[in-house]
Amino acid sequence: MTDSTPSTDILDVIIVGAGPAGLTAGIYCSRGRLRTAILERNMAGGQIALTELVENYPGFPEGISGFDLSEKMKDQAVQFGAELREIEAVTALRAEPDGCYSVVTDRGALRARSVILAPGVEGRRSGIPGEAEFIGRGVSWCATCDGALYRGRTVAVVGGGDSAVEEGLFLTKFADKVYLVHRRDELRAAPIARERAFANPKMEFVWDSVPRRIDGDQMVEALEVENVKTHEMRTLPVNGVFMYIGQLPNTTWLKDIVDLDEQGFIVTDGYLRTKLPGVFACGDAHANPLKQIAMAIGEGALAAIQAQRYLDALDSPVPGAASAAGGSAAAGGSAAAPA
Ligand code: NAP
Repeated sequence: MTDSTPSTDILDVIIVGAGPAGLTAGIYCSRGRLRTAILERNMAGGQIALTELVENYPGFPEGISGFDLSEKMKDQAVQFGAELREIEAVTALRAEPDGCYSVVTDRGALRARSVILAPGVEGRRSGIPGEAEFIGRGVSWCATCDGALYRGRTVAVVGGGDSAVEEGLFLTKFADKVYLVHRRDELRAAPIARERAFANPKMEFVWDSVPRRIDGDQMVEALEVENVKTHEMRTLPVNGVFMYIGQLPNTTWLKDIVDLDEQGFIVTDGYLRTKLPGVFACGDAHANPLKQIAMAIGEGALAAIQAQRYLDALDSPVPGAASAAGGSAAAGGSAAAPA
């Protein structure tokens, strides 16, 4: 049963999200001897745990499976003392009169003196007819999870970014044919991924086209696409449709609590401070210019150090230093201020 009455136990830090940013923050906070809980739904690792092979994470020249990488990060955080708590959803963040924060989840509320927001992102839905109806029956956002179901079959991947191209390439391990449906005639994906995709004989590119409808009886049987230049309709006979048309931040629960940009990404200052003192944000849900593991990890470390400094300042206030690390983006110093 949901109990939103905050626990009387007060942690030092609650980290919302156990992707690379949240887990890195967890490693740093727990090594800093802060009492730290990391909240995650599903499994640790976030989007990266669903990635077959990570090739651009330094130190693994052969690549490493996203799942293995996140398991290692999780083990490292837990080894230093962070507590990983499984939840289904975080529903609210509340500032309490005593200066603590309550993080309300479907499994009750926790209290802490500082909060690090790393809620990550999830795949955007296209909203076309058939998409919702065929979830689990041919429509997917996770090639790593579902790819093996399409051995010897035909699938379509929608999108032209890194996710679409990399996951499309992964699907060629199983499927006989992978249509890549992209709304332009040029891929957004990184050059190395593009080169591999163009060299793969199982990939067929459907340029200048957007999905309009997914059809089938019990399972997906076809994807109808429209050429945006000629308005010609084409029916692709496919058994599966994988949507990779961008990502949305998991931040609806933060609306009116911290600043969000027009797409819902969390706005901070250069030291990752939100407008709430002691609340920091990092990772893919942060309004930053680069959605990469390397970026998420750097931000996770910075958010943790900021939280530590904030708590140190609460514990040992220095007269006249009110706006140091304890400040918020709204009340505190500029991005260039020493923290
Ligand atoms: P993305 O880079 O935002 O790409 C989304 C793709 O979907 C774009 O090609 C876009 O077309 C297309 N699209 C958007 N809205 C659409 C719509 N309504 N209908 C049809 N097509 C639509 O998303 P992503 O590929 O998921 O990547 C997200 C971030 O993670 C990126 O920063 C990416 O670099 C990063 N990432 C990195 C790696 C890696 O480093 N190995 C792997 C995966 C993701 P346009 O191109 O025309 O805008």
